[in-house]
Amino acid sequence: MEIYNQVFENNAHWAALKTGADPEYFQRLSVEQNPEFLYIGCSDSRVHPNNFLVLDPGHVFMYKNIANQVVPEELGIKSVVYFAAVHLNVKYIVVCGHYRCGGIKAALSEESFGCMDPWLKRIKDVAHSHESELVHIVDFNERWDKMVEWNVMEQCRQVELLLDCADFNELKIRPSVHGWVYDLKHGLLKDMKYPG
Ligand SMILES: [Zn+2]
Repeated sequence: MEIYNQVFENNAHWAALKTGADPEYFQRLSVEQNPEFLYIGCSDSRVHPNNFLVLDPGHVFMYKNIANQVVPEELGIKSVVYFAAVHLNVKYIVVCGHYRCGGIKAALSEESFGCMDPWLKRIKDVAHSHESELVHIVDFNERWDKMVEWNVMEQCRQVELLLDCADFNELKIRPSVHGWVYDLKHGLLKDMKYPG
């Protein structure tokens, strides 16, 4: 069976299992959400926070793009942070990168990636701001890992800038901002202890 058809079968099976174990499961979830986390992460197909955080649906409000970028002037991220902070009252806003991120690797190369180039330019700017440290790291994988971490810290700062802007005046309690890096090779999460 093609995977396209398979997923519908999987879905029906999963929904039946869930309802069998807990008849009110979907009813409860359909009424409201009370997430504690806003998770801003990479689109990478291997990085699924509900899996590695071991949290059921309802705990993590989510936004993903290539290399977990926070572009304050982008309406998508601005709306997500606003809604999460002001209306859902999330306690934590997390920017989560991951080692071996393809977006970061692309930004470290001189190659053109077509219409992605303006997006990658933001990551290249992060690299430029750490130029003096980067030149001393000979091993490419080490440079790559460092860039993943620096990028997370920079995007955390961008979240803070968003929270500082006038639109967020209705904020009752300011959520705390955190930077994480997920390690694909071991399945483990590292807290970057933002602001460091
Ligand atoms: Zn990635």
